[in-house]
Amino acid sequence: MFYNSTRNSSVKVSSAEAITQGISAEGGLFVPESIPELTPDEIKAIGDMKYADRAAYIFSKFLTDFTDAEIHYCTDNAYSTKNFETESIAEIAHLFDGTYMLELWHGPTCAFKDMALQILPYFLTTSAKKINLDKKIVILVATSGDTGKAALEGFKDVEGTSILVFYPEDGVSPMQKRQMKTQEGGNVGVCAIKGNFDDCQNGVKAIFTDDEVKSALDANGMMFSSANSINWGRLVPQIVYYVSTYAELVKNGGIELGEKINIVVPTGNFGNILAAYYAKHMGIPVNKLICASNINNVLTDFINTGVYDRNRKFYATVSPSMDILISSNLERLLYIMTGRNDEQIKEWFGQLSSEGRYEVSDDIKAKLKEEFCAGFCDDEQTKSVIREIYEKYSYTCDTHTAVAVKVYNEYRASTGDTTKTVIASTASPYKFSSAVLEAIEGSASDIDEYAKVDRIAGLSDIPVPSALADLKNKPERFGDVIEKSEQKNYVLNTLGL
Ligand SMILES: *Cc1c(COP(=O)(O)O)cnc(C)c1O
Repeated sequence: MFYNSTRNSSVKVSSAEAITQGISAEGGLFVPESIPELTPDEIKAIGDMKYADRAAYIFSKFLTDFTDAEIHYCTDNAYSTKNFETESIAEIAHLFDGTYMLELWHGPTCAFKDMALQILPYFLTTSAKKINLDKKIVILVATSGDTGKAALEGFKDVEGTSILVFYPEDGVSPMQKRQMKTQEGGNVGVCAIKGNFDDCQNGVKAIFTDDEVKSALDANGMMFSSANSINWGRLVPQIVYYVSTYAELVKNGGIELGEKINIVVPTGNFGNILAAYYAKHMGIPVNKLICASNINNVLTDFINTGVYDRNRKFYATVSPSMDILISSNLERLLYIMTGRNDEQIKEWFGQLSSEGRYEVSDDIKAKLKEEFCAGFCDDEQTKSVIREIYEKYSYTCDTHTAVAVKVYNEYRASTGDTTKTVIASTASPYKFSSAVLEAIEGSASDIDEYAKVDRIAGLSDIPVPSALADLKNKPERFGDVIEKSEQKNYVLNTLGL
């Protein structure tokens, strides 16, 4: 299996090269040249494996340059009860008749990003070795909360790597800040920037392409890499849990082998739902992929009209990990849907960066409608759905997951489609405790984050994840706050260059 670039189909690299490079030199994203297929027998057999082996089975189809031993080294290290609080890794809960919650947040940082970021460090270091890149990999991350912490936990003490995370001093939740400041590990660094998320991200991008920094790294046997969701190494682990869930439901009798399901995904960067699309085209029987957005509903409009227009107001919502106006992974979907037309992709994404808008052809509009449905949900609706399912089903969900439930309820009511359905649950309710508690109790409370967590624990039957429970007693290790102009020197100093 080779990988092409969405902006130049003649680029052809191995998976190890795609993963270490992160993004193709001309700015395109790496995409496998074909989608490997699973037979019904294979899907059935996957149900009898443990999660790490299910993952290894899927990876062996995409990462064909990895040996079995290399793949198992990665999966066994990532998907064990050392890192996840449940044996099954991705837990399935039955919400109501034929509607399942796929809980992707039993990892160390309590959000679904752990599913990919627990394994990415192993993919990266193994890939670097395979292509004889005998260098220490330095990961730089700008984060608005979830990605930074998940990357820190993933790369913590992984040999041959170090990681440095920048976050906006006033732009993350108190719990997220505490999670990062108390981070453990000998190869990690965390620093706050006096500025917003864009300042952090612009700084990181400038450092990535700075020639002075680059040659200093080179001279010291180091190289930069990215843990961002444009890396194929973050997408492929997400395909696994959709295949795994289908196989698991067949095994436990929830569905028949061959029966179609709907998949609902709360979406921001279009990564998680693109993984579901890949699972479908590998052979998982899927009726509709349902794309759920918050009030930043650029994707809802795109799927419904074929016009992508980011020229709109940006809203800060109670589901902040979906507050995104540029969904990078859409580029991969459109590349596949246009029959791998790199010229067309360059034109549309050129328009997106110059005018903030593009419109796809009628043919693509029809294909989008055939595969996807889309809807959105505002903050008030998000909170009322949290309360509704708490009261009706005694189930407590986070704000992002609630967006998906709301969009699904509307889909079901308007279409009458009762196909069995899997809803991706992307974060623990404890991670967004303020909004969740407000939703359940009906009014905002000014007690501190830990007290909110305790109160939710009293109201729900979900145990407090140990990673959050321990936080109160952990010493703070990282208190640096710098001006954005100091970011480059900070990186050089931290790396001892
Ligand atoms: C990142 C994130 C999302 C959005 O996922 P995408 O892959 O960007 O679509 C949804 N929910 C939570 C909790 C997240 O952290």
